[in-house]
Amino acid sequence: MAADLTASDDDAAPIHIDTSKASIARVYDAFLGGKDNYEVDREVFRRVREVAPEAHQLAWDNRQFLIRVTRFIAAETGVTQFLDCGSGLPTAENTHQVAQRIKPEARVVYVDNDPVVLAHGRALLEENSQTHFSPADIFEPARILQDDVVRSHLDFAEPIALFQLGTLHHYDGARPPADIMREYIDALPSGSYVAISHFLDPETAEHSDLARRMEQTFLHSPMGTGVFRTHAQIEGMFPGLEFINPGLVRCCDWWPTGPRLRPRYPVQYCIAGAVARKP
Ligand code: SAM
Repeated sequence: MAADLTASDDDAAPIHIDTSKASIARVYDAFLGGKDNYEVDREVFRRVREVAPEAHQLAWDNRQFLIRVTRFIAAETGVTQFLDCGSGLPTAENTHQVAQRIKPEARVVYVDNDPVVLAHGRALLEENSQTHFSPADIFEPARILQDDVVRSHLDFAEPIALFQLGTLHHYDGARPPADIMREYIDALPSGSYVAISHFLDPETAEHSDLARRMEQTFLHSPMGTGVFRTHAQIEGMFPGLEFINPGLVRCCDWWPTGPRLRPRYPVQYCIAGAVARKP
């Protein structure tokens, strides 16, 4: 099966989408209850739900973490430049909307390599003159750091907030993810912030098994990626940085919006996030 989408930029030809393969961005959209997904993407969601009935909460905890982190950085740190690696498809609250509500001067560069994000999302994400999009591979930091869009809109002499939210667990290349992050971090000026969220193997008798079953389901699904790493492995992705209180914790426990009124779902033990500052 295939679909043709018309890209939003003026001179672009229609983009050919292979709808027999699931894409990370569309599967995530399906988890969030969005409409920009195909049957093959929903199939991944269904399979994960068989293992974890509240699977949608994995995605929502991640997305709400993104929103709270963006709000924190915009409101508390003075940083007004954001490099959001792996934007995802546009959804209710995108990084630039959250940041610019608090700091209208905030500048955001999104990077993603999914053709549907390019075709559908770009126009919505590039909503104003301070918001830009670059189609590139976020696991090639040398390229991203020299990318024309990134370099034209972000000033590397001033602190930058770098996001890798819900992305690194999809990386299946040979290079250790901590190395990839080190290369990004080396290029950031002092006072910059890095936020990462990542599927977690909580290493407990109660929830580790769930993490490993979800991992197997993702890896053997039409999407084919989704690694659950340990606390120590994820912490290692912030080399040389100082963690902002409370450090690396379950996404739902990182400065939640209020007191918890119900017990956590099991999946909520299986995704963690942190924000750290470059001294
Ligand atoms: N960051 C958003 C969030 O946290 O809500 C979206 C997360 S979504 C799970 C991961 C995104 O990363 C997808 O949009 C996918 O297309 C993008 N992505 C995955 N691998 C990528 C790569 N190698 N280069 C660029 N983008 C990539």
